[in-house]
This record gives sequence, structure tokens and C-alpha cells, in this order.
Amino acid sequence: MLKKEFNRKDVERARNLIQGKAGDSSEIQIGYKKKQVEYKEGDVWTENKKTWTIKKGIKQTISKLDKIKKEVFMPLCCPECGNVMKKQLDKPNYNIHKKCFDCVIDFEATLHHNPGDYEDYIEKLKLRNSLDMLDKTESYLLDVVNSSNNEYISEQGEVERWVGGVDKEKYTKDITKYASDVREKLEKQLNDKERT
Ligand SMILES: [Zn+2]
Repeated sequence: MLKKEFNRKDVERARNLIQGKAGDSSEIQIGYKKKQVEYKEGDVWTENKKTWTIKKGIKQTISKLDKIKKEVFMPLCCPECGNVMKKQLDKPNYNIHKKCFDCVIDFEATLHHNPGDYEDYIEKLKLRNSLDMLDKTESYLLDVVNSSNNEYISEQGEVERWVGGVDKEKYTKDITKYASDVREKLEKQLNDKERT
């Protein structure tokens, strides 16, 4: 083993000499060498287990946690009636309607007077549901991608790594890009409906 190692270094030193790289180190870098990458506005990447982006020239962590928080965050009281939201159905209703379950029921009851209003409401509701699903799916996927171990032990007992975590970065970028495209479309449709 030691002899082989010695020979390998010798061969490389000789090769460097021939190629005019006498000063080059003939030591082979073992292990994980971090890629140096220049990032630009809007790029999304993973570093130190966080997802980063550059917004208005400032490097910052992406809202992976913000998104989860946004999903979980619900004020104590309903913004419409002011009652404390503690019923089981308040949370799923708040996520979509931004009001408590009782207020949703009351509001839906008023819609039955006018079938047109009701249809319109259902259309908007579908869009709001899609937005809620999108938030949840994006959070879930980002969580899966970023918490998955990027190294594993092979059958031979060697640690294998995905060099530079390329896949993780790519997936994070793809998911974020896809989600923001879809979100933009859904929000635009919803805004168009709110205006009419
Ligand atoms: Zn309420």
C-alpha cells in the first residue's frame, strides 16, 4: 500500500516536471472540495444546509422556514368577527379564507341569494385552494430535498457523496422556480376575479 502510494506520487511528480509544472503540488486532494461559484441576482442555491438567494444585490436565506411559518401562522382572533379561533375547522378555513369557520359559513349563506355570486365564489375558492396546496407542496418538497442526506455509505463501506451537492441545488432551484411561476399565475387569476 505504502509502496504503491509512493510510486503514484513519483509518477505524478515526473509528469508535472515533463509538463513544466515543477512547482505544482503532486499531492492529490482527498475528500470534498467546495466549488467556488459566483451567484447572481435571483439565483437559488444551498449552502450550509440553508437555501440562499440574492435579492436586490443582498445575499439572504430563502423563505423555506418563512413559508412553513406562513402556513402555520394564524392570529389568535378572527380578523372579521374578532372571536378567538380555537375550533378545529378554524385553521384550515383561515389558511384559505383568512377568517374563522363561522364567518365562512355566514358568508357562504349570503351567497345563496344570488347564484351568480355563488359561482364566482366557487371559482375564487378553487384558486385559493390551489394556492394553499401550492404553499404546502413547495414547503414539503423543499424540506425533503434539503433534509435528504447528500452522502451515503456504499456496500463497500465507502462514503460516497454527490459532489458539490449539485442535485440538491438543482432541485431546490427547480422547485422554487416552478412554485413561483404557478403562484404568479394563480394570483393573477385571483386578482382578475377580485376586480370584476
Ligand atoms: Zn370570524
